[in-house]
Amino acid sequence: MSYLEKEDKAIFDLIQKEWERQSDYLEMIASENFTFPAVMEALGTVLTNKYAEGYPKKRYYGGCEFVDEVEQIAIERAKKLFRCEFANVQPHSGSQANSPVYSALIKPYDKILGMHLNHGGHLTHGAKVSQTGQIYQSFFYGVEIDGRINYDKLEEYADVVKPNILVCGFSAYSRELDFKRLREIADKNKAILFGDIAHVAGLVAAGEYPNPFPYCHVVSTTTHKTLRGPRGGIILTNDEEIAAKINKAVFPGAQGGPLMNVIAAKAVGFAENLKPEWKTYAKQVKANAKILGQVFIKRGYDIVSGGTDNHLVLMSLINKPFSGKDADTALESAGITANKNMVPGDTRSPFVTSGLRIGSPALTSRGMKEKEFEWIANKICDVLDNIEDKNLHAKIKQEIKEFSSNFRIYEKAIF
Ligand SMILES: *Cc1c(COP(=O)(O)O)cnc(C)c1O
Repeated sequence: MSYLEKEDKAIFDLIQKEWERQSDYLEMIASENFTFPAVMEALGTVLTNKYAEGYPKKRYYGGCEFVDEVEQIAIERAKKLFRCEFANVQPHSGSQANSPVYSALIKPYDKILGMHLNHGGHLTHGAKVSQTGQIYQSFFYGVEIDGRINYDKLEEYADVVKPNILVCGFSAYSRELDFKRLREIADKNKAILFGDIAHVAGLVAAGEYPNPFPYCHVVSTTTHKTLRGPRGGIILTNDEEIAAKINKAVFPGAQGGPLMNVIAAKAVGFAENLKPEWKTYAKQVKANAKILGQVFIKRGYDIVSGGTDNHLVLMSLINKPFSGKDADTALESAGITANKNMVPGDTRSPFVTSGLRIGSPALTSRGMKEKEFEWIANKICDVLDNIEDKNLHAKIKQEIKEFSSNFRIYEKAIF
């Protein structure tokens, strides 16, 4: 019997239930993934006990000789992975990586220009409900009705706004970014180009998505999405001066002691990302997302921008009698987890939406390939074609449970 089971049955039981949920159903939220068992193990270690405020060899506490090495290894691997000069591996999450980027490089009331939340951007790119939209003056660009960024328009707008930071990166955009062009737009306005690659970092690491370097001055990412590591964030740059400012802004600016168990887990995840097999995984993620899009189109569902170059597809339900929220709920009852999303030209509210965001990373980690994704895509269409048919949803949920049992990823819930 585990300590957890003995000491806290309530939490233990809920963890078991969550493990079954993750195993029995199809996780298609584009930002989620299943991390490596070795990463899970690193998370549950004695490193969580250690206070290590500061940076390797420059700590405020004693006893840091081993965690110093751990953090240094994480830094070296991150640099190698993204082919850059400096890495800060301490941010507790993606959002916690983004705030110090701003606080290090601009002042309150300075201007940031980012992608609008409803067009695929992230809260931390200046949304009013986020600190980034309260501390700074935020301005937004979006996508055209074809679902793509129009760089000429963005340039025109940037020339008017004259941002201090131009933010690029997204949570819901299925195409490649033109980092070179973005840098030209930033340079024209003497702005810093900040690339937030939280969603596509795993593909970037594999060389399966454009690298923001050398174009971005500073780059942030989560480590738990396509990178498949532990929940966390990192900040990267090639500029020594920016690196020094970022380090100060993370600690003591924004955080106290780093989560050393998570930093160890990040290092373990990066080692996986550096293996040749990682490229195979990243290619499969893209191939699987492509199949989803192709089946949806064949079955009469529109895809924003007509396809995908990365790990996600955005289905547009603008011409359908039901909303993204309805689709989300129906899929959930059939054992498929995706999420509602705004799409270009949406007339429904952000709580209802006319779109669905569907991603391939998590199920690809479970070993599913094109054949399985084709089957899944057809099941999704069956549910949506019969959105009111609760009996059919229950029947598909049962089929999915059987189908999923062949692709179990963990043999236990607790590592
Ligand atoms: C997910 C995401 C974040 C935030 O990551 P958290 O770990 O949830 O704080 C930041 N930026 C983008 C583009 C994201 O997709």
